[in-house]
Amino acid sequence: MREVDIKTELLNVIKDIKAYIKAEEEYGIGEILMPGAGAFETEKASLPSKSKILLSLKNEVLNCKACPLHKTRRNVVFGDGDPHAKLVFVGEAPGYDEDLQGLPFVGQAGKLLTKMIEAMGLSRDSVYICNVLKCRPPENRQPQPEEVVACKGYLLRQIEIISPKVICCLGRHASCALLETEDPISKIRGKEIDFKGIVLIPTFHPAYLLRNPSSKREVWEDLKRIKKLLSEE
Ligand code: SF4
Repeated sequence: MREVDIKTELLNVIKDIKAYIKAEEEYGIGEILMPGAGAFETEKASLPSKSKILLSLKNEVLNCKACPLHKTRRNVVFGDGDPHAKLVFVGEAPGYDEDLQGLPFVGQAGKLLTKMIEAMGLSRDSVYICNVLKCRPPENRQPQPEEVVACKGYLLRQIEIISPKVICCLGRHASCALLETEDPISKIRGKEIDFKGIVLIPTFHPAYLLRNPSSKREVWEDLKRIKKLLSEE
């Protein structure tokens, strides 16, 4: 194994352990039993992977009734992609197609997002895609502040578990929810903003690009910047 592969593997293990300890704390377990000499391989094998921790969180969200949107949803749209992704896209909320399928960004805007990801030389499977709200607002209305407050904790835990290098916020609502700002997207778009040690770059939502194709050029500049950040060690 090359030195760089070993380093990457070790960093992934450290990230998994951090996420594991965080999850244990959230479930009220304050003591971590360390394996004895020679037992490390066995213990490592039994550590919950990021996939398992995300699955555990997903199961929690599937039963969530913390805001009124649970009454009208057909499916919870938790998120989808690689739990070890270096890049996480965050949108605002599921729409009609997403609510129907239980998957994020699968409608027309989702198809455009897939094209944007592929134009970066990445695949949809290699990134992680989710929304601030996990349930569809009726008639695709804007998320209400109290819904964002009720749901945002799930997004923060997803980000903490995945621990990406870059977050790309799609549109004003995702950017405002994470950055807790009222600034319009036109003001913050394309900026590199620190978010808990992760680079956050807001850009336009693909649904906006469907209505305003001339803004694709600016989004492409943002995607190129993200690609450069991902390629840096
Ligand atoms: S939108 Fe979020 S907080 Fe509201 S019911 Fe769905 S999962 Fe729970």
